[in-house]
Amino acid sequence: MTRKLVTRRVISDVYEHPNADALELAKIDGWQVVVRRGEFVRGDMCCFFEIDSWLPADDERFAFLAKSGVKKDPSGRERIRLRTIKLRKQLSQGLALPWSLFPELHRLPELEGVDLSEHLDVIKFERPEPQVTNAAGYFPNCIPRTDEERIQNVWDLFSTEYKDVQFIPTLKLDGSSCTVAYFGLTTTYWKNEDSYDVREHTGAKIGEVAVCSRNLQLKYDESSHFWKAAMSGGVVDAVTELGRIGNFAIQGEVMGPGIQGNKEKFNDFQFYAFALFDIDRQEYIEWTQAKQQLEELDVQCVPDLSALVTEPFRVFDTLDELLEFSDGPSINAKYREGIVWKSVGIEPMVSVKAISNKFLLKGGDE
Ligand code: AMP
Ligand code: MN
Repeated sequence: MTRKLVTRRVISDVYEHPNADALELAKIDGWQVVVRRGEFVRGDMCCFFEIDSWLPADDERFAFLAKSGVKKDPSGRERIRLRTIKLRKQLSQGLALPWSLFPELHRLPELEGVDLSEHLDVIKFERPEPQVTNAAGYFPNCIPRTDEERIQNVWDLFSTEYKDVQFIPTLKLDGSSCTVAYFGLTTTYWKNEDSYDVREHTGAKIGEVAVCSRNLQLKYDESSHFWKAAMSGGVVDAVTELGRIGNFAIQGEVMGPGIQGNKEKFNDFQFYAFALFDIDRQEYIEWTQAKQQLEELDVQCVPDLSALVTEPFRVFDTLDELLEFSDGPSINAKYREGIVWKSVGIEPMVSVKAISNKFLLKGGDE
């Protein structure tokens, strides 16, 4: 699922703010947002901007936020980043503004569940991708890019549909996404979005392993963090070994010096696998099986947090309870980024991320 940064949504409830007369708390799906008192009543329509939206600072409707700081995006445009904050000790995530402020959206043919970000020139805040100098081409379009939906957006669905489903809580690591793929058995996958043959552009041979960052395929370079982690972690060997039975992609988080502040204080580059994708069948392997297979091939996997909670959407009555479970230590860091829950025994496999609010408030996503 790609992320919808800007959507039309309904205010599902409005509460008193315990510490401020001029403010109230609005609930929008699983999100809590601090709003001006009297701005909304339950059932109102709003335009909702999720955290990590990067708003144009020259749009008057966002100008009141500019005092907390603007930054230039890569194209030089001044922007305001929405992040998790506390306002008078209450958590506030995202921005809700009255729907009436956005007449340019009212005539759109489709509004339900549609991402409206491009109409308001909102983009996603992205930390600059490390080491893009050695790009070989685009990310292969036969493999899904790694991404996870946030639990705040799907709590109602998950807490009704998946009560009886087992999920594994895996540690969410805050590094850089890496995909290592093998294309030995066929060349038909070497087509990207523009449907040209990537081989022409990358010099890749059939049977070669592709190492990719979140958005790009990377040329072999012994100084690349991604290649280093994929080689030393045995991931290149493992995906080649799996090539005996098919074309697979191993996806994981590269951690180490210079990556996201190296909060785990690793001395060298590490690869932690979190997914195994079957390119031929175009499906993810269920994590229990994938993990077993990867560990047999000596690939390090993201740690599982606890076997105690097996049916989270039965065990946790509220979203807040589930979110609290996300708080806690990481491998070496005091605060973990959160948990990615991965389903067992249903097809297709579903997963969802629950980011620790403690981590967000510590500015851990900087
Ligand atoms: P985000 O970092 O907020 O963009 O969340 C999605 C990303 O989390 C994925 O693209 C992965 O790179 C990363 N990630 C870290 N740990 C895990 C995990 N245990 N399971 C799945 N994805 C993970
Ligand atoms: Mn991340």
